[in-house]
Amino acid sequence: TQSILLKERPKKTPQTSNFEFKEEEVKSPKENEVLLKTIYVSVDPYLRGRMRDEESYIEPFQIGKPITSAIIAKVEKSECENLKEGDYVLGHLAWKEYQIAKGENLQKVDSNQAKLSAYLGILGMTGLTAYFGLTDIGQPKEGETVLVSGAAGSVGSAVGQIAKIYGCKTIGIAGSDEKIKLIKEKFNYDEGINYKTTENMKEAISKAASNGVDVYFDNVGGKILDATLQNINRNGRVINCGAISQYNKEETVTGPRVEGILIKKSVKMQGFTVRNDYKENFAEGTKQLAKWLQEGKLKYEETVREGFENIPQAFIDLFSGENKGKMVVKVADE
Ligand code: NDP
Repeated sequence: TQSILLKERPKKTPQTSNFEFKEEEVKSPKENEVLLKTIYVSVDPYLRGRMRDEESYIEPFQIGKPITSAIIAKVEKSECENLKEGDYVLGHLAWKEYQIAKGENLQKVDSNQAKLSAYLGILGMTGLTAYFGLTDIGQPKEGETVLVSGAAGSVGSAVGQIAKIYGCKTIGIAGSDEKIKLIKEKFNYDEGINYKTTENMKEAISKAASNGVDVYFDNVGGKILDATLQNINRNGRVINCGAISQYNKEETVTGPRVEGILIKKSVKMQGFTVRNDYKENFAEGTKQLAKWLQEGKLKYEETVREGFENIPQAFIDLFSGENKGKMVVKVADE
């Protein structure tokens, strides 16, 4: 069976040559273990951070060791009481076609309740990130204006719809006209800004947000954050969810670079990691997201790549915005 290892730490934008494929033998599960067949692999921007040799909220990947991420797998053989052959599970697993895992680290998922891949997106980490980041940190109120960057991505597409459920005006920023059409038509965004074709982001945001920005859900950082802060309202909230525009940079930017704005306008800016700050609330969050899905209030999009060998490229393509909604790789048939 194949496994994907980190060959070397990427410099700037990751390349397929940073990864290495290795052939391994498939073992048999011991007591409390299962043999898993990988079905869907989640590729996520935060994995880029783990490829740096830096202390963070999660330990760095080691050279010569497999990359890990959220994976949906099928139980092939079980030595676990609560898991049987044919069950589907979600786990934080290695990029391997087959692997042995401890049953206690796996969560059973129901393929009748939702598409299996949805447990990597809207009913998984990115849906929960959107939900807790917006509602708990953003505290959106009816009639307020919520601006979201990375709006056509997995987190951002959910944020806009949840803000709409809360009665807000929503403005999304994304990197192509096709994505702007998608976020308005499918994800209920009132306004959209293509940051790649817009020269003056400060003015464009000011025009779209005629009453200013009350809540900014930031997935990208950098210049878009600067331009937003120049449009932020008094008592505004900035949710520092991610900063993908900075992940491939070798130098750390310091900020906030729009000097004095947070002070003058009493703005609150808060970061979080969903796994550390909201782990206790995951069940409640998933229940709410599933309810909205069922009621048709929440929609999602996926970009599904096929084939184990294409996992590294799918990950790399996140940084050029090749995905709409959640990027997943389908490795084997269900
Ligand atoms: P997405 O599905 O949003 O994919 C990434 C998107 O980022 C791309 O599609 C691309 O869209 C956009 N992008 C890439 N480079 C740039 C750039 N230089 N400037 C602006 N936009 C860029 O990924 P996720 O939904 O999984 O993650 C979104 C953000 O949320 C990331 O920053 C991630 O790190 C963060 N995150 C944080 C969590 C937390 O707990 N705090 C948990 C999960 C995610 P486009 O075409 O519009 O450029």
